[in-house]
Amino acid sequence: MQPGRKDLWFVPLGGTGEIGMNLNLYGHDDQWLMVDCGVSFDEPLVPEYQSETAQTSHHPIVCADPKFIVERKDTLVGICITHAHEDHVGAIADLWPRLQAPIYATPFTAEIMRRKLAERGLEGKAPVHIIPTDSDHTVGCFDISWITMTHSVPEPSGLIIRTPLGTVFHTADWKIDMSPGLGKSFNIKKIKSINEESELLAVVGDSTNATKPGQSCSESTCYHGLRETIRHQQGRVIVGCFASNIARIISLAKIAQETGRYLCVLGRSMDTMVSAARLTGYWPDDVELVNPQHVGYLPAHEVLLVATGSQGEPRAALGRLAADSHRLLTLDEQDVVIFSSIIIPGNEKAIEKIVSQFNARKVKTIQVETHNLPIHASGHPNRDELVQLYQWLQPEMVIPTHGEHRHMEAHADIAKSQGIRKTFVGKNGDLFRLRPQPSIKRGVIHAGRIVLSRD
Ligand SMILES: [Zn+2]
Ligand SMILES: [Zn+2]
Repeated sequence: MQPGRKDLWFVPLGGTGEIGMNLNLYGHDDQWLMVDCGVSFDEPLVPEYQSETAQTSHHPIVCADPKFIVERKDTLVGICITHAHEDHVGAIADLWPRLQAPIYATPFTAEIMRRKLAERGLEGKAPVHIIPTDSDHTVGCFDISWITMTHSVPEPSGLIIRTPLGTVFHTADWKIDMSPGLGKSFNIKKIKSINEESELLAVVGDSTNATKPGQSCSESTCYHGLRETIRHQQGRVIVGCFASNIARIISLAKIAQETGRYLCVLGRSMDTMVSAARLTGYWPDDVELVNPQHVGYLPAHEVLLVATGSQGEPRAALGRLAADSHRLLTLDEQDVVIFSSIIIPGNEKAIEKIVSQFNARKVKTIQVETHNLPIHASGHPNRDELVQLYQWLQPEMVIPTHGEHRHMEAHADIAKSQGIRKTFVGKNGDLFRLRPQPSIKRGVIHAGRIVLSRD
């Protein structure tokens, strides 16, 4: 099954009908373009939480089964990575040997990817083209413009993919943030101009928060909420967040400076993000990090710790602090733990467990749902932002991705409410035909997940 000159196809192998492991394909004129190559965790994160084996169970990392495109790899002209989150880039080093196509990414994303390729001895073997942000690049028969959006990581890129049959806007992960705290604010003018040059055939995009009303919270609002919360604390402040949320870590770095605390990050994945941010110029020059080895010796009121494990993972930094088994630090009664993240469905019990471990030792905890100030901002668009997008763009059709079925249905309803008549809600392995006749052929392409080996 190959697209001909009169075909323009979209085929998701991962990330449509689920949140995680994004792997998308566009096909035209006997050529395929891959957009993203991510991983996911088999959920829930700690399903065996109540069992005795919970502390030692290893959680499998999975990615989309690439069989369909591997069988056609000679016609795969390139792999574009939209941003540095694991659900978009996490499987690149695992799958590249089977794909062998050139990779395209902006500098920060390329730096995160370089480390992954180096770990597998692929650095220098896999050709990586570093694309300046907001620039154009032709890959095979696809003319691509990289558009910087706002999200929770540097250089989140939407892709305008032009073919002789029409133009598609692949949003990837985005929100409208006029004050993102990291990089440029959302460029309304640029987004509006997408459909000025030619009719926009389709928007393929992020459905994560389509069921949520209103607008997403800006990172700067979250920064103010965190600063006010941290300012009044007497003891150590420990903030749990996702390592990939580098915008949040930079907000916390600024807050550390403003509140007279030293910043320390705990967790290998956080070290990786911080050092990539440093190398690519996103880390504020004047923020020094304290070596975790020294943090136990500092006066408590001078410590701001950022730790991995906000989903209750028992072996991550926060889990170890909760169980009082962290080799570098024991928390005291004056200390506070702030959860600056959402609860991923399925992880409630695991999080509850570490919260009660902290509370049993009289360490205070602060969570998003019960705190009176904003301490977390999602990186994805709520309803009003999607409405805005479709008012600006008015594409012929909308294909919701990056969500479970209910998120994608909500996304499609929003598009319809803005006068877009064609919406296609499908899932991994469906063939979305954009041209010649817009239609969806369900389940005609092999899709599944494979477990990746990790040491
Ligand atoms: Zn993302
Ligand atoms: Zn994502």
